[in-house]
Amino acid sequence: MLGGMQDFELRVPRLLDHAAREHATRRIVTRWADGRETRTDWAGIARDARRFAQALEGLGIAPGDRIATLAMNHTNHLIAWYGTIGMGGVVHTINPRLFDDQLEYIANHAGDRVLLYDKTFQPIVDRLKPRWTSIEHFIAFDDAGFEALLDAESGDYAWREGSERDPCMLCYTSGTTGNPKGVLYEHRSTVLHAMNATQPWVLGLSSRDTILPIVPMFHAAAWGLPFAAPLAGAALVFSQTNDAAVLCDLMTAENVTLGSGVPTVWLAFFQHIDAGGTVPPALKQITVGGSAAPRAMLARFLDLGIKPTHLWGMTETSPVATAFAPRPDWDEMHRDAQLDVICRQGAIPFGIELRIVDDDGRELPRDGSVSGRLQVRGPWIVKRYFGADADAVDADSWFDTGDVALLHPDGTMQITDRAKDVIKSGGEWISSVDLENAAVGCPGVAEAAAIGVAHPRWDERPLLVVVRKPGSDVTADAILGHLSGHVAKWWLPDEIVFVEELPHTATGKLLKTVLRERFKDYRLHAA
Ligand code: AMP
Repeated sequence: MLGGMQDFELRVPRLLDHAAREHATRRIVTRWADGRETRTDWAGIARDARRFAQALEGLGIAPGDRIATLAMNHTNHLIAWYGTIGMGGVVHTINPRLFDDQLEYIANHAGDRVLLYDKTFQPIVDRLKPRWTSIEHFIAFDDAGFEALLDAESGDYAWREGSERDPCMLCYTSGTTGNPKGVLYEHRSTVLHAMNATQPWVLGLSSRDTILPIVPMFHAAAWGLPFAAPLAGAALVFSQTNDAAVLCDLMTAENVTLGSGVPTVWLAFFQHIDAGGTVPPALKQITVGGSAAPRAMLARFLDLGIKPTHLWGMTETSPVATAFAPRPDWDEMHRDAQLDVICRQGAIPFGIELRIVDDDGRELPRDGSVSGRLQVRGPWIVKRYFGADADAVDADSWFDTGDVALLHPDGTMQITDRAKDVIKSGGEWISSVDLENAAVGCPGVAEAAAIGVAHPRWDERPLLVVVRKPGSDVTADAILGHLSGHVAKWWLPDEIVFVEELPHTATGKLLKTVLRERFKDYRLHAA
């Protein structure tokens, strides 16, 4: 027996139609790299997206085809997303910071037919063109070609209908090992993810918000903000560059209420403020995620009266899975206790289920002291990678995140490490992330990475690889002395080595595989 309610497929174009109808004049602003500014609104985006859909059909693009973008954040990128999805296509956002071999691999693996790109990435296009086997059309976003394409169309177009389970977007994981893997988002998963993001216990968005997604549209769909904004009727502000001074200026000029970015973005923000910049007056919330946000940064936002919403997720989780949400007793908590909670990766919203398991897959208690492999399931979590011939989940739909976490009795989740980075000493786990965070709190330390190196008695022991701040001559003993105040004695690194720089992935995460390879024959003196 079927229920008696309407068929109303959760399709992404409905988000845009809603905004164009109910929040037509909420603005969409872009500050381009050359300093120009363009302004439109949700009604304008809806009209131009229809024109872009017509243009794609004119090029012979069919539903299901992949349309790639190699671009920073701006209005034309947004128009391309909605136009592509509206005609049944799949947007494939490519991260321009990937290495050539990865750029070649993912566009060919995706079978992209069109590439839309920013002129700044022309050298990448020129280099890779002969190696990309499926791309037929190259269109630059920021010259007359894109505008001309739109101008040639009427905008009299009805979105293609289809199932809510149809694909709409393809994002590849940055991948620290092996080839990147594609995660194929659906209309339904995208709409549900957007509904989740707007909830009070996640970002609490409304039509009173003006959002500046600093996180790039090529990094897990700018954390879904371009879909959550029309749902909430919020205004969107884009900057084609990530310069802190430009961002602060734009936030002030446009009364931005929410900014979203990885920790390094906010470090640059505070450097700018410290050098005489002003805190944007309308800013009432920031989101930070992608890697653990430092406590000092979260404390600073808290003291400024700006809510620091710490998020956790990954490309495979669309990406927002957990978010900071104040508990009922929040106002009675001391500032330090509040910070302890904000430093964790958030609470679990409806739609997300989490559990932690040991190496044999046995579920572990939520007692805040035993850590285990973090597993997740839900309607916006990956089931199978694009083009794979087997599911990425177990029989009960649990996806193993590769993160190691604690689940606390108050329902918050705390990432302690990546599973492959955890240091296994005498059968116990040492969190490399905790060691690194404690180490960067030591004056004179710019960056630190902890890796496990072979030890005859303990199996592995921690080695700390440190980059000193310019002009600093901080010693290993000073760092050990600092660490002693922050971690258990048996966690202290057996040795500390100093290097000029550490290797990173295209999304700015420490590349531990390279580091482990470099130190694989390292002999600890005491061992
Ligand atoms: P990506 O798919 O490139 O976005 O990377 C996802 C990974 O980033 C996760 O599996 C975590 O290891 C890490 N990550 C994301 N958010 C956080 C956070 N708030 N704290 C610590 N690690 C995070």
